[in-house]
Amino acid sequence: MARYLETQLDFIFFFYGLSFLLLGALCLVLARRQHDDNSTMIRLTGLFSCVHGISEWLDMTALIAGDASEFVLARAAVSVASFVVLAEAGRQGALARGIPMPGPWILVAILIVIGLVGAVDGLSSAKATSRYLLAAPGAVLVGVAVYLSRGDYAGSARPLMVAIAAAFVGYAAAAGIVVEPAPFWPADIVNQTTFEQIAGVPIQLVRGLIAVTLAALTWAAWGRRLMETFDYPDYSNHLKRQFVGVLITLFAILLLGWALTNYFGKICREGIEAEARGDSALLVNGLEREIAVADAMVRALAASPAIVPLLGDGQGAGAGIARSVLELDAGAVEAIRSFVVDRAGMIVGSSDASDRSWLGLPSLRAVGWFEQAIAGRVVREFRLDPPQRLRTYLTASPIRGAGGQIQGVAVLEISLEKLAAVMSRFDPAFFVVDGRGVVIITNRGDEFLRTLWPRPDLPRMQLDEQFGAPARQPLFDRELFGAGWTDFGGRRSYVIRQPIEDTEVSLVLAIPVKGILASRLLGIVITLQVAIAALFYFFGLDRGVRDRLQRQLREELQSRTQALALQAVTDALTGLFNRMKFNERLEEELERYKRSRVPFSLIIFDIDHFKEVNDIFGHPMGDQVLIRLSQTVAASVRRADLLARWGGEEFALLLADTDAASAYETAKKLRLLVAHTLFEQVGTVTASFGVAQVLPGDNAEMLVARADNALYRAKLNGRNRVELSLPVVDMVELSPTG
Ligand code: GH3
Ligand code: MG
Ligand code: MG
Repeated sequence: MARYLETQLDFIFFFYGLSFLLLGALCLVLARRQHDDNSTMIRLTGLFSCVHGISEWLDMTALIAGDASEFVLARAAVSVASFVVLAEAGRQGALARGIPMPGPWILVAILIVIGLVGAVDGLSSAKATSRYLLAAPGAVLVGVAVYLSRGDYAGSARPLMVAIAAAFVGYAAAAGIVVEPAPFWPADIVNQTTFEQIAGVPIQLVRGLIAVTLAALTWAAWGRRLMETFDYPDYSNHLKRQFVGVLITLFAILLLGWALTNYFGKICREGIEAEARGDSALLVNGLEREIAVADAMVRALAASPAIVPLLGDGQGAGAGIARSVLELDAGAVEAIRSFVVDRAGMIVGSSDASDRSWLGLPSLRAVGWFEQAIAGRVVREFRLDPPQRLRTYLTASPIRGAGGQIQGVAVLEISLEKLAAVMSRFDPAFFVVDGRGVVIITNRGDEFLRTLWPRPDLPRMQLDEQFGAPARQPLFDRELFGAGWTDFGGRRSYVIRQPIEDTEVSLVLAIPVKGILASRLLGIVITLQVAIAALFYFFGLDRGVRDRLQRQLREELQSRTQALALQAVTDALTGLFNRMKFNERLEEELERYKRSRVPFSLIIFDIDHFKEVNDIFGHPMGDQVLIRLSQTVAASVRRADLLARWGGEEFALLLADTDAASAYETAKKLRLLVAHTLFEQVGTVTASFGVAQVLPGDNAEMLVARADNALYRAKLNGRNRVELSLPVVDMVELSPTG
């Protein structure tokens, strides 16, 4: 599991960074919209999350594109900076809750301590210290502040606040206690490496999950708050849907993105594996071709009758010819030398006429390869001459007499330096190792003569002494066979080992994972783009929904205001206008009359003996009569006129642009209408009408009083009739003396 997740570290860093950036964006938006004791803390927490998210993406970049010492330092600086902001967020949060805190100088003091630790003990120790002194207390204080402020929130949001506080404390543990390995207590025991060994997952995954939980909880709490503020079921439903929708969508995108990333990685991995196979075949072929030529040469030499005279007395013309054959042979393959050894181990002929020894040895009897060759075996040996650091290939073949008996050995030794120089132009790291695992040819200059893997049967010291090389750890922790993915030079690499036929030597080729991570980046970038698009979609949708809801609310409010306004001027029982509206309209008509002098009139009518209707048929039936009569009269008046319930069973009709004569006619029509209307159970009722026309100098009271007087006269004169207010008569009646 841990091994697998290690190959997913780039995606984990991506996820971790994305979670923090989302949390950061959320907190910054929240801080802008919410103005209370906590806003400073929320803003700083948002800033921390953004900077920390960026720091994780920088780590991811280092993993994919490789690291440089300046970049290592820059990443550490961004990470420490994020923790400074987190510590300040915690300090502000605690201050807002009335917890006594040291001033901002404390941060400067801590930074000095971190700087000193870094200068003395290195970057890893400085980072661990920053986690202890900044991240852990900062996250705990933010958690405490959130917990203490839960009372400020609505009941439904309180459990969320408690959960957020707990998540911050969890983050304090994951980021402030599980630190970079450092050579002091407790970082030497509790650190990211030991955590991964025990838990089987990288701590970055845990931190990322906490960040994602924090983002979801914070968002949910904010949503609760919005719901309480708006208290609008449509909007609450939308928020809930949006919450679930975003979470599920992001989860799906990350999952698919992860699969896509792995897919791209796999394509690239297969490419690398094929490339490694091709490269290693190419190198092995070159090497094999070189030694095959030498092998063929030495076999031809051993079988050549021309060299036989050398094994005799070594004198005479035959021997001279044999020596020139050796010289020719050596020249043809640019060999160091070719020579013939007799059964006694003495060099009896050599292309180098001045040298009758091999590496200073006059007799080869005790030399391993000679023993093998004289025993009848073909020798193929890669040789290192440590003092000169010369690499040679030595091949020897027994020379047989006519009866098949071995008479001596033909030897050819070629230099591998030229081949090594050509091969070193190859890009992927390769190593030609001998049987002991010692590198004899490589394109990584530093690793020449290094032991590639431990050989417990051959003590390393011995090799080191032999080559005069400083003792170094082997590059691999165990001998490799075949091909596979393994750690090489601190990086996961595809390593392939291919033996050189019939020798102890093999070729090892390593291609680091870098290319795979670069192609996995494509998956990560696509995931990021889709995630951003999804978020834009959801929050764009949110704006649309909010606009729609606002429009709806406005319309609702408008129609409610209209209804209220109508209610204010309407009589509840009959639905006619009420006296308030009548008075308003009357004032308007009077104003108009003053300007235009076009007269208008007023009819006031009252149902006759209505008390009896109530008494006989009951009050509810009386109400029905009032309603029916209102409807009947209302249906027969012009749109420009205003019919209002004056009070009780009394009505007023304002007739625009109408003089007394016309109004009188209208009143008569209405009297007949009322009298001929049949009311259920009640039968018929009658009404009395008083009509008055506006006069110059009139005010509302005067006009109403005249109409009322006319009505009074109608009642007096026997009811069910119309009386016109004659100006003179009524003036007289109105005068105090009349
Ligand atoms: P007249 O006008 O012909 O002199 O006789 P009246 O019986 O109509 O006289 P009055 O104006 O004194 O009585 C009015 C009655 O109308 C009194 C009251 O019971 C009744 N009334 C007033 N408002 C309502 C109402 O909203 N519903 C019902 N059912 N009766 C009402
Ligand atoms: Mg009446
Ligand atoms: Mg009345």
